[in-house]
Amino acid sequence: MSKIKGLVCKECKSEYPAKAIHVCEFCFGPLEVAYNYDVIQTQISKEKIQQGPISLWRYVDLLPIESTPTVGLNTGFTPMVHSKNLGKKLGLDYLYIKNDSVNSPTLSFKDRVVAVALTRAKELGFDTVACASTGNLANSVSANAAEANFKCFVFIPSDLESGKILGNLVYKPNVVAVEGNYDDVNRLCSEIAGEYPWAFVNINIRPYYSEGSKTLAFETAEALDWQAPDHVVVPIASGSLLTKIYKGFQEFERLGLISGVKTRIHGAQAEGCSPVAAAFKRKSDFLQPVKPNTIAKSLAIGNPADGYYAIKIAEETGSIIESVTDPEIIEGIKLLAENEGIFTETAGGVTVATLKKLVNQGVFKKGESVVVYITGNGLKTQESIAPAVGSPWLIQPNLKSFQHILEKEKK
Ligand SMILES: *Cc1c(COP(=O)(O)O)cnc(C)c1O
Repeated sequence: MSKIKGLVCKECKSEYPAKAIHVCEFCFGPLEVAYNYDVIQTQISKEKIQQGPISLWRYVDLLPIESTPTVGLNTGFTPMVHSKNLGKKLGLDYLYIKNDSVNSPTLSFKDRVVAVALTRAKELGFDTVACASTGNLANSVSANAAEANFKCFVFIPSDLESGKILGNLVYKPNVVAVEGNYDDVNRLCSEIAGEYPWAFVNINIRPYYSEGSKTLAFETAEALDWQAPDHVVVPIASGSLLTKIYKGFQEFERLGLISGVKTRIHGAQAEGCSPVAAAFKRKSDFLQPVKPNTIAKSLAIGNPADGYYAIKIAEETGSIIESVTDPEIIEGIKLLAENEGIFTETAGGVTVATLKKLVNQGVFKKGESVVVYITGNGLKTQESIAPAVGSPWLIQPNLKSFQHILEKEKK
């Protein structure tokens, strides 16, 4: 029997074959992958995982592919750092930084979802891949499509950071910059997906794509010696990552790989695009779509597909969804760089700033473990931080000139 049962509607539980579909025909609810956990239980063990590849594919038994992985063979298994300096500053003895800013091949957590989506797209027989992206997803689809010999179309809002635009073009996909925000791009792509037989990783392949995010939870638990942390802080764009980190811990517990999971799954948004945090604060499941206005462009989804489910999980686990301002995001980026030597993009600034806010609210108790997910790399969003980092000392090429400025500038 196969480990994959098929797809199932998250709302009405209607079942479907594991094809390139994502919406329930009956109730229009989203579809997700359903597994035969009894089959997986006979295949999976800590020892087998530990002897597996040094990549996210060590968890292949819990990923929705049927053959062997073909894309993203070096993706995942990123560093998990026990923070000393930032932890001390914030009064947290057990603060861990899960550093996907150095993920392979394109320096963001999106390499995880794309590895799974493109491997599945190949299994389903597609020759063209595509996506609607806030930036990092397009980078990852472009790079992985180049290596895996897919034809490729990526659709992005035209006002993205230059590093993210160039980070598509260099791989030579078809890059389509749309004069509109991400929600406009996404709406257009849903239409295009109906016309062309392409694997849109976050539209018709979304049920498979989103499962790749679970590997962040798996790697976290394995790195903590097979325990789930007390708290995680997760950035929210569509909300998919947050829901899948929850699902990852649940699956590991169900299969007996970890036990006693009580993880609180806190969400982080930028105030300039915080429909999920706003609904959470109103104690409502109803998300009011917004027009994004923030430097955290990778999180700028005004009408997040999984926002409703993110709120449900936050409520169920007694967690908090907070938002932070653009100046707080800049401060968050600097806090992580200056204390830990990790240069994250604006999304990571949102996460660190939210962590700080939760510390100030007294959310974390002494001795509790906290994992923050740093999901993207600062070299891609340089224009947002450039005005806040100062400039180098400028000198003449002689010792006197250096000594002069040393006296003047020394800290
Ligand atoms: C896409 C993205 C996220 C969050 O994605 P979800 O849509 O919520 O799954 C977080 N951080 C970065 C850097 C991203 O690119």
